[in-house]
Amino acid sequence: MSRFFSEKYASLVPYTPGEQPKEMKYIKLNTNESPFPPSEKAVTEALKEARRLQIYSDPECRDLVDVASKTFGVEKDEILFTNGSDEILNFAFMAFCDDKHPAAFPDITYGFYTVFADVNNIPYEQVPLKEDFSVCPEDYMGINKTVFLANPNAPTGIALPLEKIEGIVKNNPDNVVIIDEAYVDFGAQSAIPLIHKYDNLLVTQTFSKSRSMAGARLGFGVGCKELIRDLNTIKYSTNPYNINRMTMAAGLGVLSDEEYTKKNCGAIIENRRIASEELKKLGFEMTDSSANFIFAKHPEMSGFDIYSKLKSRGILIRHFETPALKEYNRITVGSREQMTALIDNLKEILEEAL
Ligand code: PMP
Repeated sequence: MSRFFSEKYASLVPYTPGEQPKEMKYIKLNTNESPFPPSEKAVTEALKEARRLQIYSDPECRDLVDVASKTFGVEKDEILFTNGSDEILNFAFMAFCDDKHPAAFPDITYGFYTVFADVNNIPYEQVPLKEDFSVCPEDYMGINKTVFLANPNAPTGIALPLEKIEGIVKNNPDNVVIIDEAYVDFGAQSAIPLIHKYDNLLVTQTFSKSRSMAGARLGFGVGCKELIRDLNTIKYSTNPYNINRMTMAAGLGVLSDEEYTKKNCGAIIENRRIASEELKKLGFEMTDSSANFIFAKHPEMSGFDIYSKLKSRGILIRHFETPALKEYNRITVGSREQMTALIDNLKEILEEAL
């Protein structure tokens, strides 16, 4: 720490992103990226836009908002694009939380929520999950705090049905409820249609997973126009050109290729089913995931051993150090070939050790 660093941030513990190694060609199953390349239409549009990089991007993202509002069934003033969904989540913490409106989220969930709360000096409650790692919806009814729920949750992959989400939104009429749908396209129901019924619901999604654009950084939020106006106030007070030209163009390209996105999601769901069956045969226990990852542990080998033995064989998965999670690993669902390599290596690792 330099002697100039503000005292405000001196004790901040930043988010630790998954490893992005350069040195070796790993089979990368640690950061929930798509195994499929971006849509050719996204690539073509982004390349065209590269020739116009001397001009600032459109701060209102008008072309993208036009198309996306149709794709997602909302009005143009009910959607806001951001630099990944991490940015809209941070905006939501800034806009809708303070001492009088603390945040509330599960004790096991996306690790960035505590960091967003801390960096913005927002008090928060971490609501314990049930023993089976599921969210207890009743815990959030009338909680009197700004609720953040990842649905499906991370790193468990467990999803709440839409009627439970609606119950939480309905029973917190004086607080904003943020539903983080980063993984919704892999098997959960989106709460987007509910934004027309509730003025306290913000739904966030990302192009990082189902649309193969993690490296482009594109996310968005939808909610009633007043919520979106508040979030715009934060955006225009921090970074008005938050979406660069190439990303905006790639976003337009991928939205014109919904068939490709659907096909890829179908493949991930199928690969998840097959890999889960194989893991079960090897003795693994896992949650019922509706996401593009599997959350699994083995009763006879520690989570860290499985992680490090796979790493030495060139396969990266995500290991967490926190006590409640340390026996588990989060494994991104990749291509059929990647999953076969994973299972074959796990078989050998377990045979050697047990
Ligand atoms: N929410 C959840 C639950 C996530 O796991 C992630 C990805 N790490 C994000 C939001 C943010 O993704 P992005 O910023 O790439 O849109």
